[in-house]
Amino acid sequence: MTTPALRLSRSIVGQAEADAVSRVILEDGYLGMGNEVKRFEEDIAAYLGVPAQNVVTANTGTAALHLAVQAAVQPGAEVLVQSLTFVASFQAISGAGAVPVACEALPETCTIDLADAERRLTERTAAIMPVHYASNPAGLDAVYAFAHKHGLRVIEDAAHAFGCMHDGRMIGTFGDIACFSFDGIKNITSGEGGCIVTADQTVAQLCRDARLLSVANDTEKRFSGQRSWDFDVTRQGWRYHMSNIMAAIGRVQLARLPGEFAPARMRLTARYRQRLAGAPHLALLTTDPRDVVVPHIFPVRILDDKKHHVVDALQAGGIPTGMHYKPNHLLTYYGGGAQSLPVTEMLGRQLTTLPLHPGMSDADVDMVCDALLEALA
Ligand SMILES: *Cc1c(COP(=O)(O)O)cnc(C)c1O
Repeated sequence: MTTPALRLSRSIVGQAEADAVSRVILEDGYLGMGNEVKRFEEDIAAYLGVPAQNVVTANTGTAALHLAVQAAVQPGAEVLVQSLTFVASFQAISGAGAVPVACEALPETCTIDLADAERRLTERTAAIMPVHYASNPAGLDAVYAFAHKHGLRVIEDAAHAFGCMHDGRMIGTFGDIACFSFDGIKNITSGEGGCIVTADQTVAQLCRDARLLSVANDTEKRFSGQRSWDFDVTRQGWRYHMSNIMAAIGRVQLARLPGEFAPARMRLTARYRQRLAGAPHLALLTTDPRDVVVPHIFPVRILDDKKHHVVDALQAGGIPTGMHYKPNHLLTYYGGGAQSLPVTEMLGRQLTTLPLHPGMSDADVDMVCDALLEALA
């Protein structure tokens, strides 16, 4: 018997998710956006401890971000965002006609460097998009204080951070806007999917309408089994709504998060940290002890130009690694490196993501650590 290859990440889905999808297909028969989506939004709201009207699902996390930016900032406005993020953050901003302003990240946490962001403020700056890198909401209070001081909206790219807490509060409840991703490998999945969580009912309603081509109040009609035949449209919208099929998967996954996925992710990363503490040529990212971090990924910094050697050695041992992320300011569409962000570029040369998913065993973590420590020695 061959042991299955260790994967960097994977979806953890099974019979319960299959049963939920088959229930929608066989019992309901309505596959589009209907009551199952409404129930998923209610479940998310109950989990976060917010009113159901604060939660708007979408068909991807990127769509959620795009809807949020479109609802909260005007075209042409500037949005401060760390360059070290998935290109989805940048595309969501530029897709809404706004301008992503690439900022440095802090090397300890890979979250946004507010001192650098402050230097990039202009009279056109309208919002800041902090990215909870590796699910770490470190410094979120400071981001909100910064935004308050400069009159900015906060649109949290919380794609990694579903189920996390900062200073005793769930991410998604800090007052402005947070966007989550439920793609196949995130903390929970709905196949693809995402959601916006905001207490601002103007933003919530704009997102709710814009996910259905900005047909006014179409969500409310669909949730009560009706359709809009005679309607008006006053602004640009998109086909970004979630389907009942996706919501059925998401509801099962949400129920599995507290007792199964979150503890597994936290246990595996605690083991990584314990095994790798003090290793040469290695820096682990830090988290705030006041925070609850449910890690979506486990990136480490490999120092002293040893990354390529280490990645090759791990690969030779059958251990896949990842790279989160190529800095966005180096991408052609976002300047092609015309501007230099030295800390971010250094992090780009160092960051290496180790395998992490709730299907891994402690022995898998040990195997990765043994190989990594040997390559670093
Ligand atoms: C996954 C991710 C997104 C986008 O989510 P999708 O659901 O994949 O569209 C946005 N930002 C970050 C940092 C992500 O990791």
